[in-house]
Amino acid sequence: MRANHRGTGEEPYRVNPFSFTNLSLRTRLLIAMGMVFVPLLAVALGSGVFLQHAAGQFNRLTEQPVYKLQTTSRLQNRIRSTHALVENYAATPQAALRDRFVAEARAVENDFVEILAKPFLGPREYTLLADARQEWKDSLVLAELVLVPNPSRSALSRFDQRVRHVLSSLDQIYSASYDEISAQRAQIDKAENRFLLIIGAAVGLGLIGAVAGVLWLARSVLIPLREFEKGLSHFANDNLSYRLDLHNDNELGRLARDFNNMAERLMEHKIRLEELSSRDGLTGLYNRREFEDRLREEVQRARRYGKPLSVMLLDIDHFKNINDRYGHQAGDEALIAVADLIRLSARPMDAVCRYGGEELAVILPETDENGAGVVAERIRAAIADSLTTTSEGNEIQLTVSIGFATFPQDGDTGPGLVKAADQALYAAKQGGRNLVRSH
Ligand code: GH3
Ligand code: MG
Ligand code: MG
Repeated sequence: MRANHRGTGEEPYRVNPFSFTNLSLRTRLLIAMGMVFVPLLAVALGSGVFLQHAAGQFNRLTEQPVYKLQTTSRLQNRIRSTHALVENYAATPQAALRDRFVAEARAVENDFVEILAKPFLGPREYTLLADARQEWKDSLVLAELVLVPNPSRSALSRFDQRVRHVLSSLDQIYSASYDEISAQRAQIDKAENRFLLIIGAAVGLGLIGAVAGVLWLARSVLIPLREFEKGLSHFANDNLSYRLDLHNDNELGRLARDFNNMAERLMEHKIRLEELSSRDGLTGLYNRREFEDRLREEVQRARRYGKPLSVMLLDIDHFKNINDRYGHQAGDEALIAVADLIRLSARPMDAVCRYGGEELAVILPETDENGAGVVAERIRAAIADSLTTTSEGNEIQLTVSIGFATFPQDGDTGPGLVKAADQALYAAKQGGRNLVRSH
């Protein structure tokens, strides 16, 4: 029997904070939720931070090459339109074209100056640009030879040549910037892939955490529930001795302890009730109902195994006189004393019963006529030889008359045996009392 002192307060619950099995359901629920949500939260926060960082980095990285790309392209366009103005002038010389040329050439020069002032130009880019500027300046001298009332054809063709050279130098800067952007783009792509991998791993971990958390929670509840189910089924089948096998110190563990405690109490009450319902209140002997139940069982057993069985009926002689003379209370005390004497004189396997009033009965399993005669005589003599002193100090001398009958010769049913024993008892009374008679 597993003791449980919850109700008595003898042993208070001690919760071990480091024990895994003692975690309360509430804590388990919180941990399981944490297992699900913490990785997902980490993913959400991580991606936010990463994206912000990545966007900043991308902008920072591409800012300079994009600037170089844009300004180089703008410079090339300006050079081309300046070149076009010179060609147009050569075709149809006009003062307005010349004026526009001067303005455009100044804008080109300004662009050169602006770009060359940028600190982020690489040494190669700087050299290319400085050379292009010098070449452009040189070509302007040729342009001056074209921009006259009689433009020089050869100067124009040399101007064309130089301008093409300048443009191709700028092309080199343009493609270098483009390559720079592509390289950075590749770097960002790599970072993005790494980020996707991390996100994937975190989501995977989150899912594993979620599944593990749910399974763990389910086990925490389902296993104890199965044990409760088992316990209740035992209870439903009247098996009060079953105890739940749950030793956690959480809510379900405490419930199981209370359940076991209740089962313990119920079993005690049941045993006590069975005891009470089978005993006589005054003498403590088995009562009439228990006598009949046992006799029925013993007759069946005797019949099944072919064993003898005897039943003995005892009646106190002249008991009415005792009541009349010493009072009913003294009569009760004398009756109790006789019951005790019979119990002591009978054998452990014999069932001593109060049949009714001052009549008593003894069932003697596996006892034939001779054996029953010996036991009956021993009982008769024990009572006849003893003196009962009542609480008021009266000494009472009692005798009993005994009749017995044996299965199967005197009767092959319970009532038949009782009837035969009663007839033998009657004969003992008729014979003068304080006697033993068989059927
Ligand atoms: P005999 O059996 O020898 O013929 O005489 P008797 O006086 O015993 O006769 P009877 O069986 O008629 O009387 C039984 C008496 O036993 C009657 C009743 O008052 C008494 N009696 C029965 N049960 C109890 C009991 O529980 N307590 C007491 N004090 N008396 C009881
Ligand atoms: Mg009687
Ligand atoms: Mg009597």
